[in-house]
Order: sequence, then structure tokens, then C-alpha cells
Amino acid sequence: MTLFEKIVARQIPSEIVHETEDVIAFRDIAPKAPTHVLVVPKRVIPRIAEAKADDAPLLGKLLLAVAEVARKLGLEQGGYRVVINNGRDGGETVPHLHLHVLGGRPLAWPPG
Ligand code: 5GP
Repeated sequence: MTLFEKIVARQIPSEIVHETEDVIAFRDIAPKAPTHVLVVPKRVIPRIAEAKADDAPLLGKLLLAVAEVARKLGLEQGGYRVVINNGRDGGETVPHLHLHVLGGRPLAWPPG
């Protein structure tokens, strides 16, 4: 099981902020902004580079979940950033697709 499957299964505790049949969202254990949430498909896609055409509906649900989480957590007015880290140079550390939602402070661009 991936780390995030264990979170879905409640084998590892997390602060869940949103959940549907297909998607779960919980607070990052090491937040990089005042609000830092991971939006994760319950079905494992290792990384965006490995997504297939069949995954398109699930990928769409992930983006809609991002917007829902941002609304729920009051990020809409100030704005927020959505990040996917893919592979070594992208900084991926967990091989289970996840979208970072970061907000609550101005974020620098470009990222480091
Ligand atoms: P990546 O580096 O793969 O893009 O993002 C993985 C994220 O998972 C990191 O931001 C890291 O802080 C977070 N993370 C790692 N282990 C845990 C955990 O056990 N619980 C939670 N909530 N987040 C975790």
C-alpha cells in the first residue's frame, strides 16, 4: 500500500478536510504555507506522467476537488496555488499522485 492508501484506510491518521467516493483531501504533515492540503485519488495513479486516457474522469474530479477544498478552507478570495511534483527533478517523494493546494500567504514565483 502507498502511504496515501494507508491514510485513505485510516491506518495512518490525518486531518481530512474533504472526501468523496473517488478523492480524499487532507492537511500536509509538513505545511509549506498556512494552508497546505493534499488532494489525492483513492485509486493509485503513481504520478501524472503515468496517467492514461481512461484516467481523464478521475483527473477532472481531482481538479474539481481542489476548487471545493479551496472554497471550504476560505482560500478563494486571497487565491492559492496548485502544484503537482513529478519525478526526481519535480521533487516527488510519494509515488501516489497528489495535488498540493497552498494558500494563506503570497507565494513567490518562480518556485525554487
Ligand atoms: P511530494 O514531495 O511527493 O510532492 O509530496 C508529498 C507530501 O506528502 C509532502 O509535502 C509531505 O510533507 C507529505 N507527507 C509525507 N508523509 C505524510 C504523512 O504521513 N501525512 C501527511 N498528512 N502528509 C505527509
